[in-house]
Parts: sequence; C-alpha cells; structure tokens
Amino acid sequence: MKRAALPAAIAAGLATAWAYASAQTDAIQFVGKTKYLNNAKAVVVHTIDDSTKLVADTADAMDKYGIKGTFFISTEQDPPVEERFYNQLQVWLLWPRLQKAVENGHEIGAHAVTHPCSRPQSDTTSDNYRAFCDANYNDAELAGSRDTILARTTQPYVWTWAYPCGHCSTFDFVQKRIAAAGYIVARNYPGEAQGLHVRPDLQTWADNPFDAPYTQVVQKAGGRRGATAPPIDVASLDAKFDEVYQKGGIYHFMSHPQSLDFGPDGFYEKHLAHIGRRADVWYVPMGPVYAFRMINDHTIVRATSKGSAKARFAVSNSLDRKIYSGSLTLEFAAPPSVTVTSNGRKLAARATGVTNRWNEEFVRREGDRLFVTVRSNTTLEFR
Ligand SMILES: [Zn+2]
Repeated sequence: MKRAALPAAIAAGLATAWAYASAQTDAIQFVGKTKYLNNAKAVVVHTIDDSTKLVADTADAMDKYGIKGTFFISTEQDPPVEERFYNQLQVWLLWPRLQKAVENGHEIGAHAVTHPCSRPQSDTTSDNYRAFCDANYNDAELAGSRDTILARTTQPYVWTWAYPCGHCSTFDFVQKRIAAAGYIVARNYPGEAQGLHVRPDLQTWADNPFDAPYTQVVQKAGGRRGATAPPIDVASLDAKFDEVYQKGGIYHFMSHPQSLDFGPDGFYEKHLAHIGRRADVWYVPMGPVYAFRMINDHTIVRATSKGSAKARFAVSNSLDRKIYSGSLTLEFAAPPSVTVTSNGRKLAARATGVTNRWNEEFVRREGDRLFVTVRSNTTLEFR
C-alpha cells in the first residue's frame, strides 16, 4: 500500500494528489516544495549601502568569496560637494561595475536619488519628522532611482529599497508609497544613534517586508553620522553566522563600504571567508529571496494525465511573472534512470555545489530523492 509509505508530515490534500501520482507511475512521487532553493540548509544575504567608489572594492571582495548581495545605490548623477564620499561619490563611474555585478548574480537596489538624510535619527515622532518623510518619499526619489537602475543596467526589475539613514521606515504611508512604486521589500537601518543597528538579529524573512531588518552589521562604524561603533570582533561575527546556519535560517548582514577594511587580513574578508562557498548554503540577494518566499507560497504542483511519460506535473501560480521570475525547488522520490523536462526542455543534472543563482533550472539527485529546481508556470515530464 503505497500511501502508508508516505511521510506523515504531508497534509491530507497533498496526499490525494500523491496517491493519484503513485497509482499512475508506480515510482515517481512529489514529496513537497523545499524551504530554500536547491534544498539548501541555510541562506546568506548581504546588503551594501551607498554609492561610494568603494562599492567596486566591496563587489570584488564578495566575488572572491562567493557571496551574493544587493547594492543599494543613490542614483543622483551630480550630488552637491558636501554629500560626496559618504554617499554618492562618482556614481557614474560605478555603473559598468554594477552591470557586471548584475551579470554575476548580484542585485542593484534603490537608495533614493539624493539620499535624503538631514533629520537626526533620535527624532522619529515629531511633526517635523513626519513632514520630512512626507516631503522626501516622493515620486522623484522612489520612481526616479528605480528608473535609473533599469536604464543603466540589464536588471529586469528593481525589487528592493533601502531607507537612507534608516529614516521613515516605520510610517505606514511611506511603506505604501514604496510598494506603489513596485518594490516588494524595503530594508531598514534602525536606531544608529542608539546602537540598535548593530545586531537587529533577524534570522528569517521579516514579518513586514516594508520595514525589514537584518541579522547584524559588519562594519567598523555607523553610517555618515558616526554613531556608536560596533565591535569588530571576527569571532563574534562568525559565531552569529554559525548560530543562524545551525538553525537553518537566513543570515543577512549589511555593510557600508566606507566602513570596511579590505584585504585578507581585514575583518571583512575574514568573515566572508568563514561564511562563503558552502555547498549547503544558498547565496542570494535580498529582493530575490523575498520574491522566492512569495513564489514558494503561491505555487501549486499538481499531477496531471501522464500521456506517454512516466509522470507529469503542472507547476503554476498566478503571480506577476516580471516580478516573480525566480525558481523554486520541488522534491520528488524518483528512480535513478529518469530524465526531467520543463516545458519540453531537458533539465541538466547538477552535482553537489554552491547554489548562487535564483532563476536557474536544473535537477540534482540525492539518494532516492530528485530535487527539481525550476521556474513556475511550466509542465514537468518524467521519462
Ligand atoms: Zn545610505
């Protein structure tokens, strides 16, 4: 009796589809969607703020250790002199390097056009603060930065926003404007003046993606306001990663490039070396990992009439395909000899290795399990 062999964790609704599949194929069974892409045990996300020339050094260091991330860029072409270095030096020189980063699996996120940051961070409740947010969260900042990123790179969509200096992230009306401009997630930077930015300790997806914290900072100072300096203790940074990794969580660390030391003896690269190139970690930028949650939650896998195949499954959702273009991973019990096609294209088999993209398609075998990583809205055929 095949149904008795199914893991008890599978809900009754799925078991019905399953029983149908197993009756049809006698061997190939859909087990479920994996929590992370390619059945990774844990996730590493890196976010990097501001358009300094050191963005290029940061991207080079990340590539050296196989870390993927989101570069939050303020897109103003010619910022006033007093705004330069800390935020917006020479953004026009960064675009070729940013384009290369997009091609390498990184993401460019928006950090406004002019990086509005003139309020003190201790003031979050006054009428003046609210007026500042109302004035600066306007179409020019929200849509302008998005459109420049789309014009200057081949990135097909801009998923992610970061609040300049962490301002305004708690206002519902600001969050709604960010969502209306098409962003699906916005990263905060809470309470630098009080040191709250050092270790918010988020270890999974944020409950509210429009006020999303991270796990910890990795940098030797705050942003441009020179607030409480976090400890630069590589052992402590590494231990926090180890904790999140052991729990199978999402480790999300953020940095300002102007507050890093580059080179293999600096704290930044020592930490990257500790967390990088692990076969059971998914390295992915912030926007795509939030898009993944949506894709995973909304995709339905259904056994359909198998025709001449050993089994056939429809993989579908009704999400906007421009935004939710990434892959998800489906776990099957399947005999060793099968091949899988997705909408008629044979999926390549991949050996164990680093998972560092979010929209590829492939299959990977682990014992009697076959992990099929595929974009949704397709038909899988097992032959
Ligand atoms: Zn900034």
